[in-house]
Amino acid sequence: MARIVMKFGGTSVGDLDRIHNVAQRVKREVEAGNQVAVVVSAMSGVTNQLVKYCTELSPLHDAREYDAVVATGEQVTSGLLAICLQENGIDARSWQGWQIPIRTDTAHGKARIQEIDGSELIRRMTEQNQVAVVAGFQGLAPDNRITTLGRGGSDTSAVALAAALKADRCDIYTDVDGVYTTDPRIVPRARKLDKISYEEMLELASVGAKVLQTRSVELAMNEHVRVRVLSSFKDGLANDTEGTLVVDEDEIVEKQNVSGIAYSRDEAKITVRRVPDRPGIAASIFGALAEQNANVDMIVQNISADGTTDMTFTVGKADLPRARTALAGVKEQIGYAELLEDPDVAKVSVVGVGMRSHAGVANTMFRALADKAINIQVISTSEIKVSVLIAAEYTELAVRALHTAYGLDG
Ligand code: ASP
Ligand code: MG
Repeated sequence: MARIVMKFGGTSVGDLDRIHNVAQRVKREVEAGNQVAVVVSAMSGVTNQLVKYCTELSPLHDAREYDAVVATGEQVTSGLLAICLQENGIDARSWQGWQIPIRTDTAHGKARIQEIDGSELIRRMTEQNQVAVVAGFQGLAPDNRITTLGRGGSDTSAVALAAALKADRCDIYTDVDGVYTTDPRIVPRARKLDKISYEEMLELASVGAKVLQTRSVELAMNEHVRVRVLSSFKDGLANDTEGTLVVDEDEIVEKQNVSGIAYSRDEAKITVRRVPDRPGIAASIFGALAEQNANVDMIVQNISADGTTDMTFTVGKADLPRARTALAGVKEQIGYAELLEDPDVAKVSVVGVGMRSHAGVANTMFRALADKAINIQVISTSEIKVSVLIAAEYTELAVRALHTAYGLDG
């Protein structure tokens, strides 16, 4: 017997037929003798629609009311799945975030989970074999208002619940059958990984592989929750080799230099030309950006001879207007020459824990890109990641070349 949290994303509960399939899947786990709690997303497209309603009524709407609106998608699917399970002879009960409760901070629209009291759910699952169907994405602020956890937040709900229930595993059912070495739509020979470490998954999630919400991976790593990503569109009881397990690095025997390649076209490049090269300038530029909540990622500064320098960095594309305003606001004070913007860029990243102990990983990347005559505009690295910024039109070419260069083609 195992205790499992099963999470189903928007496409997996996208219509009544699919909800029916999900119920069958849950039923099989229960009949196999497992204790099960389920976390559901809203039906696919629903959250987008709800967000749109809010912004259409008021672009600067009250974040508390936004949460009251967007949390409803998950309320619907949790109730529907509970009905469907009951219909199939399984004792099931829906739970909203506030009913458990899943306590969060007050950061409406991107709240963080602080505490989950799992005792009642544990009692029901052990004494009655009852299945809890929990609405993902939502929680309760200290002032008793509904909060939501940020887009994709149901993953985080599931991992947090798994930790609170001391579950043996958290199975995340989605529309792909696992984590791949890269996006199979770009590289058909991409391979599914059987296992990946939390750290690699964290880096991949944060650089654009949209399988799991970044925060859920962080939480899984801190709480040692074994996460498995697998497809809800396959029939039969999932066996142990299905999907991708996200686990501690120690559990991975063959450490690859590069396990995965991710890309993102969500960033834009900004260059501030000819800023005075003296202490405090970077603080002024990035201070102004932070004040406007513009998220900065890659940064390079060039040295030049005449006492000025160029500062290049990337911000999220959605943050570009705010970054522009922020920099215009400090132009007088800093005294730079001009501002250049380029939204047509892509960030391509290679990730692997083996990088820690192997030299030459970055060089393989630069060589492969050079061979395809792809110009690198900005480079950034972490202990287990190398990212480059290139022209967006070369994204596919770069990803394919790198996939081959690191021997990942299946
Ligand atoms: N329904 C929410 C969203 O679309 C949360 C989730 O699906 O994880 O972002
Ligand atoms: Mg998702």
